[in-house]
Amino acid sequence: MNKSKDFLRRVVEKDLKTDKYQEIITRFPPEPNGFPHIGHAKSISINFGIARDYNGVCNLRMDDTNPTTEDTQYVEALKDAVEWLGFEWNGEVRHTSDYFYQIYEYAIKLIKMDKAYVDSLGEDEIREYRGSVTSSGKRSQYANRSIEENLELFKKMKNGEFKEGEHILRAKIDMSSPNMKMRDPLLYRIRHAHHFRAGDEWAIYPMYDFAHCLSDYIEGVSHSICTLEFENNRDIYNWVLDTLELTPPRPYQYEFARLNINYTVMSKRKLLELVEKKVVNGWDDPRLPTIAGYKRRGYTPESILNFCDSIGVAKANSTVDVAQLEFAIRDDLNSKVPRVMAVLNPLKVTIINYDDGNQEIEASYYPHDVPKEGSRKLPFSKEIYIDRDDFNETPPKGYFRLTPTQPVRLKYAYIIVCKEIIKDENGEVIEIKAEYYSNSKSGEDKSGIKVKSAIQWVEAKSAKEIEVRLYDRLFTNEAPQGIEDINPNSLKIIKNALIEPAVITDKPDERFQFEREGYFYADPIDYKDKKPVFNKIVGLKESSSKKKKASQPTPKVEPKKVQIDGEVTPMNEAQKELFERYTKELKLNSEVANTLARDENLSSFFDKALKEFNSPINIANIITNDVARELKSKEINELKFNPKDIAQLIKMVDEEIISTKIAKSVYEEMVKSGVNPVEIVESKDLKQISNLDIILPIIDEVMAKNQDNVDKYRDGNKKLFGFFVGQVLKATRGKGNPKVVNELVEKSLK
Ligand code: ATP
Ligand code: MG
Repeated sequence: MNKSKDFLRRVVEKDLKTDKYQEIITRFPPEPNGFPHIGHAKSISINFGIARDYNGVCNLRMDDTNPTTEDTQYVEALKDAVEWLGFEWNGEVRHTSDYFYQIYEYAIKLIKMDKAYVDSLGEDEIREYRGSVTSSGKRSQYANRSIEENLELFKKMKNGEFKEGEHILRAKIDMSSPNMKMRDPLLYRIRHAHHFRAGDEWAIYPMYDFAHCLSDYIEGVSHSICTLEFENNRDIYNWVLDTLELTPPRPYQYEFARLNINYTVMSKRKLLELVEKKVVNGWDDPRLPTIAGYKRRGYTPESILNFCDSIGVAKANSTVDVAQLEFAIRDDLNSKVPRVMAVLNPLKVTIINYDDGNQEIEASYYPHDVPKEGSRKLPFSKEIYIDRDDFNETPPKGYFRLTPTQPVRLKYAYIIVCKEIIKDENGEVIEIKAEYYSNSKSGEDKSGIKVKSAIQWVEAKSAKEIEVRLYDRLFTNEAPQGIEDINPNSLKIIKNALIEPAVITDKPDERFQFEREGYFYADPIDYKDKKPVFNKIVGLKESSSKKKKASQPTPKVEPKKVQIDGEVTPMNEAQKELFERYTKELKLNSEVANTLARDENLSSFFDKALKEFNSPINIANIITNDVARELKSKEINELKFNPKDIAQLIKMVDEEIISTKIAKSVYEEMVKSGVNPVEIVESKDLKQISNLDIILPIIDEVMAKNQDNVDKYRDGNKKLFGFFVGQVLKATRGKGNPKVVNELVEKSLK
């Protein structure tokens, strides 16, 4: 590993150095209530990756404490995902339910220490008694029960003698703790449900906060890695282990930021809804971000792991562009897979002057990587098919393919020229009569005829009919909520595409590049000899999420790539060097680095800004997104701002002096007026507000004004969270620090 270490690996290394642990033991602890998704892949790559890097082991543990939503099909899917990604778990698959008895004993120990009690308040009272961020809570009158009474009641709870909700077991910690989670958290609740493994033995089930730390301890886990939303639960984690005097070595919890990807939903609950409502065809629908979906679509495990690596391990939440995932798969397949020819939308071409009978042309599978061996024979004859899009009777300017007057090369074969266009009664072109130049064969061309491009084709008689499934994003919205944002055109099926005969093999698990179309994978389930089915994995170049955003006035600048037959021009040495530096040293993602490295104006602007303030990722982002857009219509010396201004702007964002939202408007202002960003912020009083004394009263006011919505939220309409945050931010005229506002609103609404 030559990359710099993430914060988790730094912790692990320190703990090894100080002999805190003999062995590194991590665990991946999914709840088996849905199929795993790309977010889980991130967690798998961290937990199993760390174990592998430090000669440790990683356990696979089903966190099955919620009997009503769990199912063995999900357990199988989780095992599949880990294996497919190339990891091996330590020993048998474990289950939290294996430890139910031990966890129960620990609860009894806490009761005996007078550190836990059976509470009999109703749900509403529990909430009310908990207090708020600004006021301390009040302990339940039932907390005074004697140890004997608690033991008796808890046993009866276990034996199913009470109704659900009648009693709960709580830890006795501190009802005025500033960490609301520490206000006597729930340890056990009553559930009269059948558990898929434990059967009907238990009428009580431990809560996450109690079961998780103990399961980690029981398994001898050293580093318990979870996502940021559990930050406040860490105090409970430590309290339980410390109070029970579970001696070191014991596990400690560390949090990293969840992976979010735009145009993607990533909660099992939302994915389940799509599956149950049949918006998609099952959990392995290739449009879903599930591991099963990616696998079926043809993504490779390597590409997913590379993607997880490339985004690093962050401590603050952010959203990754789905283009980065697509880049990773393209990058992986580019060097690996054979290139073949398919015609998705066939148009017949008869070569009237060809009478050489059937010919076979030897063509490499790896024309882009010549030393790599492997080739096949392409049948060629008088009748072939080309793609409908590769002929245009009234071509627009810059159209390089076949027209009534412009010849084109048939890839690996000859140059043809159009002689006659045959149409049906509706005026649609149904056939082209063409002539070929017999001395123009690829590799031995003596014709002297210039063409502007080469197109794919298939020979008519030998070509095989295939079904092709083209996938587009499942959602139209960058931050989709769920079904309401579904893209109705996310699946397009082409029934009668044609492919060269060599591609039809009986080998499963094969991927190809269909030249000029993209990467394709033989569908592992529906592919039949009679009717081969191929899934489109990904296109050849960025399909650009930006292009689809109607709200964006000018499209994001495409890197200056010259398209030759769908290939990207290779970078020159200097560009390659820049690209290396940007990705390796500065940790820019590959798309951004690619854009910068290929454009001299952008890279020099970037380097200058970076000298002023060292924040590579944020500066690179604003340059590739926003500055590049300006440079589409202007020369660099026509800009009203310079690299130093951009550096100052980003500095204010990084130092949380202004929010990213405000930064956008400051930028717009700079573009127009050329005023220095620091001056704009000063003169317009745009500094971000993080001060609790200012924000909390605003929250109180917003809550008081919207009491009905507060009630609805507390009744379970969690969607209203955004409403409150929005109102508060609005009241601060957009200046509230969103992170702080989010946290405070969440606490206040509890
Ligand atoms: P979901 O909200 O999708 O149901 P979850 O967090 O409830 O996700 P679990 O099955 O409980 O899913 O999670 C198993 C592990 O995977 C946990 O350690 C969790 O933190 C991690 N994980 C889940 N989603 C993500 C994500 N988007 N990014 C990183 N890690 C994730
Ligand atoms: Mg969950």
